[in-house]
Amino acid sequence: MTDTHCPYCALQCGMRLTGTEVAPRGGGLCQKGWTAGRLLTSPRRLSTPLVRVDGELRPADWDTALDTVAARLRDTIAASGPDAVGVFGGGGLTNEKAYLLGKFARVALGTSQVDYNGRFCMSSAAAAANRAFGVDRGLPFPVTDLADADVVLLVGANPAETMPPFLQHLRRATASGGLVVVDPRRTPTAEQAALHLQPAPGTDLALALGILHAVVADGHLRRDYVAARTSGFDAVWRIAAAWWPERVERVTGVAAADQRRAAALLAGARNAYVLTARGTEQHARGSDTAQAWLNLALALGLPGRLGSGWGCLTGQGNGQGGREHGQKADQLPGYRKLTDPAARAHVAGVWGVDPAALPGPGRSAYELLTAADLRALLVFGSNPAVSAPRAGHVVDRLSTLDLLVVADVVLSETAAMADVVFPVTQWAEETGTMTNLEGRVLMREQAVEPPDGVRSDLAVLHGLATRLGQPAARFPVEPSAVFDELRAASKGGIADYYGVTYDRLRSGEALHWPVPSTEHAGTPRLFLDAFGHPDGRARFVPVDHTGPAEPPDADYPLLATTGRVLQHYQSGAQTRRIPELTAAVPDGYVEVHPDTARHAGLADGDLALVESRRGGATVPVRFVPSMRTDTVFLPFHFPGDRRANLITNPALDPVSRMPEFKVCAVRLTAAPS
Ligand code: SF4
Repeated sequence: MTDTHCPYCALQCGMRLTGTEVAPRGGGLCQKGWTAGRLLTSPRRLSTPLVRVDGELRPADWDTALDTVAARLRDTIAASGPDAVGVFGGGGLTNEKAYLLGKFARVALGTSQVDYNGRFCMSSAAAAANRAFGVDRGLPFPVTDLADADVVLLVGANPAETMPPFLQHLRRATASGGLVVVDPRRTPTAEQAALHLQPAPGTDLALALGILHAVVADGHLRRDYVAARTSGFDAVWRIAAAWWPERVERVTGVAAADQRRAAALLAGARNAYVLTARGTEQHARGSDTAQAWLNLALALGLPGRLGSGWGCLTGQGNGQGGREHGQKADQLPGYRKLTDPAARAHVAGVWGVDPAALPGPGRSAYELLTAADLRALLVFGSNPAVSAPRAGHVVDRLSTLDLLVVADVVLSETAAMADVVFPVTQWAEETGTMTNLEGRVLMREQAVEPPDGVRSDLAVLHGLATRLGQPAARFPVEPSAVFDELRAASKGGIADYYGVTYDRLRSGEALHWPVPSTEHAGTPRLFLDAFGHPDGRARFVPVDHTGPAEPPDADYPLLATTGRVLQHYQSGAQTRRIPELTAAVPDGYVEVHPDTARHAGLADGDLALVESRRGGATVPVRFVPSMRTDTVFLPFHFPGDRRANLITNPALDPVSRMPEFKVCAVRLTAAPS
């Protein structure tokens, strides 16, 4: 019997594993968590390396697979330089793996071309929080603080499906009529809200401006807080003053009276929170959209006040830690900037290399996956053939590489395209740490032995690095050794893990970063005294509404938005292999208002072609009367012709480089028979 944590989302629910039987520990589990033990005995589990020979993936021994990859990487670097090799990581990797992957890219390969799939899921909120606070931690307070809130505004978040146990923290707000949900769809979360604001996809920045306008116009601005703890309000108000609720109603479809009601609810609460998630962020102006909601929270005086605040609900299991330790294109461990000479010197010192030899920032995820000059790519813990935007183009591009290497647990759609596949350990088969949505570092203990033939990602990196001429000690295989090095590399950084040790975590200490010394108790609540900028103030940032990158027109008259369902996680590589979950939701579909479907000549259950300028998904129609008539919705967990990402728009946010997954123009027709 071992106490551990769920392999999926950022809530990282505690679970007790007995063999492969799961039981909750200290809270609830959703259907994904309850069935997670099935991953450990899946008959579709990879247990031997695969090497492509004559067009077919064939079993190979580890030395052959590692030697093959190392030799081809050497050849690629010799012929085209280190930046011809890319590394693509994942937000589900442990802190240890994320750390060693970034080090492997920059030291063993010498490439600047490293990024990860977290770029697709939280980078816009991270950019907004950094601008406002000078620090990005998803929730800058313990998740349990939410239990005292009278009012919670959830924007573009659907925890009733993505992380159902999270709703226990909103019980008080929900029961007292204080849950306000902003979502273009009437999701199961919106069903529980006292007030559901249903804007057209791509217009919620305008909605935030309308509510801010109402806050100020109706006398709710917290002038004392704004004066004492912030800067820059006047520039924000100059924009918001022009977005009175009636004007916002014309753009968003949300009634002016509802905007004022939301403003009054938030302003009248004793404790209130504004929480955003992917619906806010996955836009070509996602950083500004997240910023607009953050500006609203600041105008209400919420961040840095005990019992109130602004936060972002992280999605992936290690979405927080995954972006702190150096697998991101522009960052070094400790959430340090790769362009900062002092940061480079510190990390290079820990790594025992010359700071001048460290490459500079690389390209962001989508740009990396589709770069014309990339010749080889190593993918760890990610399935971009399904999860990347404009996935058809990404697959075309990956198929032209000289070398594609994938480390995964199962033969994902990306692994099936690879030249070499490494079968690696998964959650309960290995020890490591994860950092959950509140910045708390968690110990995920090994509970079962991995199958014969499987190695950890750390061992893969060690095997490749030593074959590329690196000293063995520079790429440890033991997670505890990697973590101790991570602690030193993060020391003094924003995300300082120096005081976190395996022993402290195993003793049950709840450690939220920063933890600058082994005597330090951690920092569950940030910003109570000061924000992270040198002057201690939070910054309002002026942002204005521009709308989606691809508005509807005569050829593509509808808006498509994408998202998640209760039973599946991310690209579905894991959950599509769990019988109970696939039985509940076996395949993709499109939700459409019945009038919209009938207008296209489609009945409930008909096979439709949902087509954008980039491609089409062939999916059965589901009549959903609560859908807006101008909007269709597709879950993105499914492969093949059902892939929602065949249609999505890779228009990138200029600050975060996050693609616009949440809105693109489409047309709906009957699928050709
Ligand atoms: Fe796992 Fe998230 Fe479900 Fe909890 S809510 S059981 S962490 S998937």
